[in-house]
Amino acid sequence: MKLGINLHRLDENLLDWFDLVLFPIREVTGRAKVWHGNLKVRPVISCFGHTEATMKFPDWVAVSEDGLPALPGRRNLRDGFAWGWVCPNVKEHRLNLLDTINQVTKSEGNGLHLDSVQFPEANYCYCQRCKTKFAQSGINSWQDWRVFVITNWVETVAERFSKPISLTVHPEPYFLRERFGVDLRELANFVEWLLVPLYCITYDLTYWLDTLLYAFVRLSPVPVFVELYAVEPKTKGVLKAMATVAKYPVAGIIFYDPRGKKVREIADALRNDGEVKKLVSLHPSRNFRQLTERIVEWK
Ligand SMILES: [Zn+2]
Repeated sequence: MKLGINLHRLDENLLDWFDLVLFPIREVTGRAKVWHGNLKVRPVISCFGHTEATMKFPDWVAVSEDGLPALPGRRNLRDGFAWGWVCPNVKEHRLNLLDTINQVTKSEGNGLHLDSVQFPEANYCYCQRCKTKFAQSGINSWQDWRVFVITNWVETVAERFSKPISLTVHPEPYFLRERFGVDLRELANFVEWLLVPLYCITYDLTYWLDTLLYAFVRLSPVPVFVELYAVEPKTKGVLKAMATVAKYPVAGIIFYDPRGKKVREIADALRNDGEVKKLVSLHPSRNFRQLTERIVEWK
């Protein structure tokens, strides 16, 4: 099982520790970073989640069947979006994304990771642009057409990018297709692996990790990486989540730890905290113990 980290500030020391390093260069907020290239790092581009663009260009916002915009906060209290969603059919936005992707292809990097590649929810997008495109597509089913839009976008990126592409998907193993237009069987032609974010601010309870991972492992045609939130949760919470993930044949765990603070704390606890050391050494999962043995070496 591999270990990776999602970093917002590159740190050479951390790059050596991990098998895989993700580095967001275009975030859902709209914040962008200059990418200088680095063979050990996989840049992350958020595609249709882009709050800044939705504020600047109201016409680009994805719209529900009953006319609600896919925006965070008060503009759409029903759907509770964490960021603004651009309609996947906005040509200008797609060209902007392809510009960024073209820049990435010119620099060194360990592949490319795409984020927020989907329609915002099952009842989106019913903007005039989408209705017209559907009518002109020759595809009879609305759901099949939504899948075509998303698959076609990933295919377009893959054609420009010769290195492997990976993809974050919503932690929804059963209905990705009908809710978001994400069809894993079709995407498997272009995508090396999936990243499933399973965030919690405590990890006091982990039964839901079991529920989701059992299904993802059974249903995904490509390897699955799990992203664990390692900012607020305490060290023991993250270790508990890791022990749960380690039960499943997933490709690896990626810590969302933008500054690498928590992973250092975990390594420290595994070396110096008697109670943690005892819990880990007595843990029945060999897979989990092996992961912690690797982390102990981090200095
Ligand atoms: Zn639309």
